[in-house]
Amino acid sequence: MKKAVVLLSGGLDSTTVLYLAKSQGYEVYAMSFDYGQRHKKEIQCAKDIASGAGAAEFVLVTTNMNVWGGSALTDDSIKVPEFNEESEKIPVTYVPARNMIFLSYAASYAEAIGAYDIFIGVSEVDYSGYVDCRHEFIDSMEKTINLGTVCAVEHKKYIKIHAPFLHKTKSEEIKIGMNLGVKYEKTWTCYNGEKFACGICDSCRLRLKAFKEAGYKDPIKYKGEK
Ligand code: ZN
Repeated sequence: MKKAVVLLSGGLDSTTVLYLAKSQGYEVYAMSFDYGQRHKKEIQCAKDIASGAGAAEFVLVTTNMNVWGGSALTDDSIKVPEFNEESEKIPVTYVPARNMIFLSYAASYAEAIGAYDIFIGVSEVDYSGYVDCRHEFIDSMEKTINLGTVCAVEHKKYIKIHAPFLHKTKSEEIKIGMNLGVKYEKTWTCYNGEKFACGICDSCRLRLKAFKEAGYKDPIKYKGEK
């Protein structure tokens, strides 16, 4: 069975990607990060999702990106903003070079276990504009990984980055996930790690909109919801 490393945050996108990789016949190795984010709730979700989906392994990487912060997700002094549709600016929830770091770890993990496929759940359709979710970056990162790993340079076994939802909307993604039996009730998207999702942060708003467009009710509970 071919091995694949799947970057799993415990959110909607990465969970759907995990199920998709499995459906394509990969033995999946899930990798999550404790990067000093605002809450640890998504890490527990990721762990549960990986075991529920039958991942061969679940690796948690700890990297203290909160030491330098620079994002509302890694710096308590920056407030998580409410969704603003009008704004063209990249929101303060952007974490400096996060996907570059995650993909670097994934490449190391992949090379070590003999996996030549890495899956990541980024999309550049309905997203917050984060530059490290765009195809230019993903293409370039794949190139870089294949210049910096022995498997590629010496043995011509190249690592491919799969970003199957890069050009898909979140609602298209949810439809795919529903067909794959993704347990969305186990995912966590909200930037705030409270008991219930807030429903007003960027992340919640994109999620709610996507479920609505896909024609499903989001199975998680939101604050103030009966
Ligand atoms: Zn929220």
